[in-house]
Amino acid sequence: MTAPEQVTPTASRLLAPNPSPMTLDGTNTWILRDPGESACVVVDPGPLDDGHLDRIVAAGPVALIVLTHGHLDHSEAAPRLAELTGAPVVARDPAWCRDAPTLEPGRYDGVAGVDWLTILTPGHSSDSVCLLLERDGVLLTGDTILGRGTTVVAHPDGRLADYLDSLQRLRDLAETEVHTLLPGHGPVVENPLVILDFYRTHRRERLEQVRAAVAAGDTTAAAVVRRVYADVDPVLWHAAELSVQAQLDYLAAGG
Ligand SMILES: [Zn+2]
Repeated sequence: MTAPEQVTPTASRLLAPNPSPMTLDGTNTWILRDPGESACVVVDPGPLDDGHLDRIVAAGPVALIVLTHGHLDHSEAAPRLAELTGAPVVARDPAWCRDAPTLEPGRYDGVAGVDWLTILTPGHSSDSVCLLLERDGVLLTGDTILGRGTTVVAHPDGRLADYLDSLQRLRDLAETEVHTLLPGHGPVVENPLVILDFYRTHRRERLEQVRAAVAAGDTTAAAVVRRVYADVDPVLWHAAELSVQAQLDYLAAGG
C-alpha cells in the first residue's frame, strides 16, 4: 500500500486513482498532521474508491474530514470515511456536514494540533473554500487554483464575478503570507504569485475573446467555444461551455 507523500512539514498527499482530462493526475487527498500528533485531518477524501479509502484510513487516526467544495471527485468518499473513522465532516455546504457545523470564514482551531484560516473563495463553485496553514505559509486551494492549466467556472453554480474577486484576494495573500499552494489536482505550486497572475491574465484574455465572439455574431456558448477554445482538446469543450456561459452572464451583467 502506497504511503502518503510528505510535501510540507504538515501536509502529505495521497493521489486518488481517478485521472482524467478534468482531474489531471487524479484528486489530491491532503493529510494534515502536526509533527507532534498522531491524529490527522483529511482534506478532500476524493471519489468513492475502496483502495483509496483503505490508504486514507491507514494514514489515520482521522480526527476530522474537510471538503474544499462539494464536487464529487473531492467529496464522494466523505460519508463513507466518516462511517469508517467516526470523524466529523466540515464543508461550506451544510448538506455535506456531519456532526459538525458549516465552515465559516476565519480561524478553525486545534484539531489534532492543526489549525487554519478558512477563506471563502466562491467562483469555481459557490461553496469553494481555501485553507491557509499560517504557520507553514501554505494554502490548500481545492479547484480554485490547480497545479497545471486553469480551472473551470462551473456555471450556473460558479460565477465569474465571484471567481475574479477570489483570485484578487488570493493574490493579496500570496504577496505576504503564502509561498506554497497545495491544489486539488496536479503538482504543488511553489510560485503562487506567478500562477495567480497567470490565472488573472488568462481570465481577462478569455473574456475579451468571448466579448469579440459575441460581437462577431456567436449567440450560443457552444458556438463561442468552437471559436475561442479551438486550441483546447475537444474532450474539454463541455467544461469550457460552462466557463463560457459564466462569462456570457458576466458580460450580460455589464462586466
Ligand atoms: Zn471542482
